Formats: sequence, C-alpha cells, structure tokens
Amino acid sequence: MKYIGAHVSASGGVELAPVNAHEIGANAFALFTKNQRQWVSKPLTEESIRLFKENCEKYGFKPEHILPHDSYLINLGHPEEEGLEKSRTAFLDEMQRCEALGLKLLNFHPGSHLNKIGVEECLSRIAESINMALEKTAGVTAVIENTAGQGSNLGNEFWHLKYIIDRVDDKSRVGVCLDTCHTFTAGYDFLTDYDRVFEEFDREVGFGYLRGMHINDSKKALGSRVDRHDSIGMGLIGNAFFERLMSDPRFDNMPLILETPDESKWAEEIAWLRKLSVAATV
Ligand SMILES: [Zn+2]
Ligand SMILES: [Zn+2]
Repeated sequence: MKYIGAHVSASGGVELAPVNAHEIGANAFALFTKNQRQWVSKPLTEESIRLFKENCEKYGFKPEHILPHDSYLINLGHPEEEGLEKSRTAFLDEMQRCEALGLKLLNFHPGSHLNKIGVEECLSRIAESINMALEKTAGVTAVIENTAGQGSNLGNEFWHLKYIIDRVDDKSRVGVCLDTCHTFTAGYDFLTDYDRVFEEFDREVGFGYLRGMHINDSKKALGSRVDRHDSIGMGLIGNAFFERLMSDPRFDNMPLILETPDESKWAEEIAWLRKLSVAATV
C-alpha cells in the first residue's frame, strides 16, 4: 500500500500538522517540529506532545508514515568547528523532539563542504555527527535525503549516501529518503531508463535503507544541479514517471511526501497519486 501526503504546516503547534494532513486526504505527512529558520526554539510542551499523539491516533497516522524534516540551517559536515558544533547541538535537539513525539524518522540534508574540505572528509564528518546523535537518542532513525548537488551540497550521488551509511555504527537507525526532483536534477535519468536508475540505487545503497520519498516535479533540467520543485505534471519530469512510481511496489509502506510549491493543489495531487496506486494493485 502507498502512504501519500505532503509537508504540511505546523504553525500554531505541531499538534495541528496531523489535522492539516487529514484535511487534504493524506495518509502520511511531513512537518517541521520547530521553526526551520531559527537555531533555537522553545521546547515542545507536554500539552502539545499529548495533542499531537492524540490527533495522529484519531486520524490514523502511524509514526513510520510521518517524516519530520530538520532545520535548513544545520550542516552536519560543516568544515569549521564552530558551525559543526552548532549544527550537532541543533540536530540532537531535533532528534529529541522526534523522540518526545513518539516519531521514528528524522529526514535531513547531509551537509555541505563549503569548498573548505574534501568530499570524503565532509562525508565522514556527517557520519560522525549522525553517530553522536544516535548515541544520545533511542528509536529515531536518521534519514539522509539525496540532494540536487547545488553549490557544495553533498548527497547528490548515490555513493555519497552509501559512504555515510558505511560509517554509521548503528545501521538499524540510518536510512535514506529519495527526492524525485533532486534525483533528476542531480543527473539520474529515470525518464529514459527508470529501471537502470533504481537498479543503480539498489546496488550502491540498497532498497533496504529506503525509508521515504519526496514526490516533486522539477522546474530545472536533468543534471542542472539546481533545486526548484514544481507541481506534479507541471515540470520537466511529467506525469508518466509518477504513474510508474505509484505502481512500483518497492515504494510501498513508506511516507511519499509532496513538497510541491502550490499548496492549493495538494489534495488533488494526493487523490491522483492514490488513484494510480490503487489501480496498480487490482
Ligand atoms: Zn525533498
Ligand atoms: Zn528540494
């Protein structure tokens, strides 16, 4: 079964995210558990945590289908000590928030070398940062998202993801999230050869590590390494690819999250994707 949703707003409190997701017909969702543009946020209140769990229960959302996203400020591979420390502290706080909410996954962009250290050194730092956070928490899996490779962002090549995973001590609590827009703009041509791209992913990383997907069309071209999401069917990826994805059982039982720019289309996008996934199973 496919679990489809969107990255919904949690403004006014995390407890509103499951309500917002329910309203657009989602059976999965993503959220920020704090303001994603600030380093420090107030701790979650007991009341907020209780209501979040209550609403998830009420609308049938299970922790494995909820994919919180961390702050954009965090760089777990930061080349400088101060930035690295700050990022590691903030990431641990994000993990602990997920823990408090009873969540199982935390999705994040791996990090950037900022042209100050080498690719492998940066990837090793990211792995070390993950190890530090996993040591201090329980039950939450660190889910590395692949990227478009914009600027000095790492994670645009499948081997980057594997390089990090190889250096994480607890393999049961590390996973990956593939963003369709990022995969495409990073240069993986799943329009010409769908099978080859996902075989390559399986060989280099392994479907066993896949914990979720971000379902986005792209405003930018294959291999452009520019990250600009588009609504489903409106961009350069197009409907046919998403039809195929929805009938592919390798993407069952994990959150499939829209991060498309026009929120007013989410309900319609979810309904369309769900129709395709249901059609594929009968
Ligand atoms: Zn994404
Ligand atoms: Zn993106």
